[in-house]
Amino acid sequence: MVEVEHLRKSFGDLEVLKDVSFHVAASEVLAVIGPSGSGKSTMLRALAHLEEIDGGSIRIGGETLAKDGRYASSAKLKGITARMGMVFQHFNLFPHLTVRGNLELAPKLVKGLAAADIRAKASELLEKVGLSDKAEVYPSNLSGGQKQRVAIARALMMSPEILLFDEPTSALDPELTGEVLQVMKQLAEERMTMIVVTHEMGFAREVADRVMFMADGEIIESGRPEQLFGAPQHERTRSFLQRVL
Ligand code: ADP
Ligand code: MG
Repeated sequence: MVEVEHLRKSFGDLEVLKDVSFHVAASEVLAVIGPSGSGKSTMLRALAHLEEIDGGSIRIGGETLAKDGRYASSAKLKGITARMGMVFQHFNLFPHLTVRGNLELAPKLVKGLAAADIRAKASELLEKVGLSDKAEVYPSNLSGGQKQRVAIARALMMSPEILLFDEPTSALDPELTGEVLQVMKQLAEERMTMIVVTHEMGFAREVADRVMFMADGEIIESGRPEQLFGAPQHERTRSFLQRVL
């Protein structure tokens, strides 16, 4: 579903992604861990075409987003990025729209979708994330955990095949992380393909099929959770895990 080969990205002189290659299969949940500044967000943003890469290739569901650092046509890019949904650390909800308004905005901009269908889908997804009673509320009246569940529902409105999460619980008070992780776990059980950048080692261990450790713009190692957490192969992985576990 996701094929990344020899991805390279610099910001000025700073090489942020150095020859990053990995694959994610359909229905797989990949957790990405690593110290701050190691390039995790840049890698996710590159997949969603929120950053342009300098070199390497990205294929999504067999379609080429970029090959050898060259991008597909903008029409094709639009089609490919529509296959992905992204959830950010800071929710990025539109403050001037209600919860329902946030969910319905993007689908309403798509030609040919009936308003009644959009509305029904929004209601269904709000129920899924446990927020049916908040449809007419503005984001400022929600807790962080509720905002993030709205952001997940919003990402699901366009029926993505892949969900990208960038530290979805890092901005939350500890007592609110569980409700968000629970929704993500449910999506994993429904076999959604997911890439989750996270500091929640418990979630990575329990829910991810594979864990990838990044440091300094490189993938140091990846493996099944029990392997990566139980018997890390590299000293850098060991010292990182010692600090966070
Ligand atoms: P992580 O998500 O693992 O913390 P990031 O991908 O956010 O890492 O950042 C990797 C490195 O790239 C950091 O050194 C960061 O300061 C730098 N960086 C990220 N975005 C930009 C940008 N837009 N311009 C310049 N430097 C950036
Ligand atoms: Mg980050």
